[in-house]
Amino acid sequence: MRLSSFFLPTLKETPAEAQIVSHRLMLRAGMIKQTAAGIYAWLPLGLRVLRRIETIVREEHNRFGFQELLMPTIQSADLWRESGRYDGYGKEMLRIKDRHERDLLYGPTNEEMITDIFRTHVKSYRQLPLTLYHIQWKFRDEIRPRFGVMRGREFLMKDAYSFDVDYLDARATYNRFFVCYLSTFRRMGLTPIPVRAETGPIGGDLSHEFHILADTGESELFVDRRLLDLDLTGRAFADDDEIGAFVKEVTDIYAAADEMHRADQCPVPPDDLVTRRGIEVGHIFHFGAKYSQPMGARITDPEGHEREVQMGSYGIGVSRLVGGIIEASHDDAGIVWPGSVAPFQVGVINLKAGDAACDAAAGDFYAKLRAAGVETLYDDTDERAGAKFATMDLIGLPWQVTVGPRGVKAGTVEVKDRASGEREELSIDAALAKLTAA
Ligand code: ATP
Ligand code: MG
Repeated sequence: MRLSSFFLPTLKETPAEAQIVSHRLMLRAGMIKQTAAGIYAWLPLGLRVLRRIETIVREEHNRFGFQELLMPTIQSADLWRESGRYDGYGKEMLRIKDRHERDLLYGPTNEEMITDIFRTHVKSYRQLPLTLYHIQWKFRDEIRPRFGVMRGREFLMKDAYSFDVDYLDARATYNRFFVCYLSTFRRMGLTPIPVRAETGPIGGDLSHEFHILADTGESELFVDRRLLDLDLTGRAFADDDEIGAFVKEVTDIYAAADEMHRADQCPVPPDDLVTRRGIEVGHIFHFGAKYSQPMGARITDPEGHEREVQMGSYGIGVSRLVGGIIEASHDDAGIVWPGSVAPFQVGVINLKAGDAACDAAAGDFYAKLRAAGVETLYDDTDERAGAKFATMDLIGLPWQVTVGPRGVKAGTVEVKDRASGEREELSIDAALAKLTAA
């Protein structure tokens, strides 16, 4: 993509309304535009990141055999009357009437709809286990939308729903989500911390939130130091037993968010308890027959008995993650995208656009990267050098390549690693080899 034709409305000034760094940087980098309180348009640069995050979520879910479908944003109120949640949900739900005076709503979540789909088509344990997910916009009329996409009213969520014949199977599914979430967030360059969460009236211990650490996080976390030292990466599991053993090892270590933590009942000695702030990016939850019971989602088990299907739900804040990743990865100059979610991998800066030799060298370099399938943003504008560097740093692409008059004579370019700031003068071929291998 050539910057001269790319819609990238960057801002020089720091927007006054943005209180946290990710919101400021998303506005300054031209990623989003607020269209109403807590509602955003995703501009091309922002959308590229959002799509990359979606792709990682999708790939990791598919890897575990979870199946994607797509449910609508608009739902019928009748389903919510069946589960008993229509009146209880309160003002966070956006309620709509159609021309026939029928009650509709913009979905804040999809337990009812998925239970309806399930009960229509699945009758036997033989069709289980089944896990369905979608990545779809939600609306919650949050009392205090803030921090940009972090707490929006309209936001993109991945929500998954599992169906199992009994508690043991449901727990195995839950554990699979636990490790799926760890690998999903790790692929985005994040360090997720699973903490126990409220299970509500069902009780049990099958509810965890996944947080990323950031000083601006809305939750306070209380974590046994041992969890922070534990290596949560790179484990391969042969089967559900291995997954279960690993999840037990992790969840036996104390970690709770503020609403679950009781200082007087905490088993961790004060010296070993670390207090940090966290951003909730995911939540997994087993809730048994909470919806299958009132909505009559029943299956026959291997003994021929009818029983209510055991369910769980599993959310990831896809749009929140864009802000969350920036909170975790930025510096004074701007965003520092982890390669896996970066909107482009490489930014090529033509230091002297209009100079025939620079135009030829930079244009050729850009063409070769494109031909090699490397997503590249080519700054072919006639801005000042300082402004070009500032924009590249602001939008945070992993690699910057500067093509200038001096290097062109010598047949070299400068390659900068955005994260470390290290620069190298390389021959054009060496630079291409490095960037196409990365
Ligand atoms: P919170 O406590 O932050 O309001 P929640 O418990 O209401 O979250 P869930 O219903 O579990 O959230 O939704 C799943 C995920 O969706 C959350 O873990 C979070 O990452 C994301 N999410 C929830 N509300 C919002 C919002 N208003 N804006 C952006 N993302 C959100
Ligand atoms: Mg909420």
